[in-house]
Amino acid sequence: MTSRSIARWTCLLAAFAGIAASAVNAETKPPAAEPTTSPATKPAALTYRLSGNPDEWPADKRERIVKAMDAAVALYNEHGTFPKKITVQYSPGTPTADGNYNGNIRFGGQIGYRTALHELGHTLGIGTHPRWGEFIKDGKWTGEHALAQLREFDGPDAVLHADRMHFWPYGLNFDREGGDVNSVRHVKMVAAFRRDLGITE
Ligand SMILES: [Zn+2]
Repeated sequence: MTSRSIARWTCLLAAFAGIAASAVNAETKPPAAEPTTSPATKPAALTYRLSGNPDEWPADKRERIVKAMDAAVALYNEHGTFPKKITVQYSPGTPTADGNYNGNIRFGGQIGYRTALHELGHTLGIGTHPRWGEFIKDGKWTGEHALAQLREFDGPDAVLHADRMHFWPYGLNFDREGGDVNSVRHVKMVAAFRRDLGITE
């Protein structure tokens, strides 16, 4: 090999290496770029904060509320996209608990995981969205997404019941409806109801 051909060979090698490198780059770029782009493009998650002087709440109540809300919010974020900021209060005058579409939950006589999942459903539109009643006929939900989701769980003949405030099955309306499988199904039902209601925010 003359020195000239060596030079050319190394140049070719360099060119090939360059192509190979850019091919590798092209392949690895999207995942590499993700950490910088995902915070801007990733849909907002469900979050909550305590409001109304939580320092003055009885410590045991605050602890139980935080524990229930942490777990419930995590399950919603694990199984759906619910971009909403929730505020949580301890309200001794509230017989059980209630959740409002404005994003507020008040815990009174009933504090726990199942209750938190259920009240989060209300803050996300279950029984509280202005269009909720439009989809109910003869005590049954007529929206296609929620019905399809229920039938995915329970088969083609499953009936989705709904009234002014609640739905069932999987509404987690009572403690006996709780449990891991029902909790995940509840979250997926809430997501499907939101699609029926046209909620995108
Ligand atoms: Zn309720």
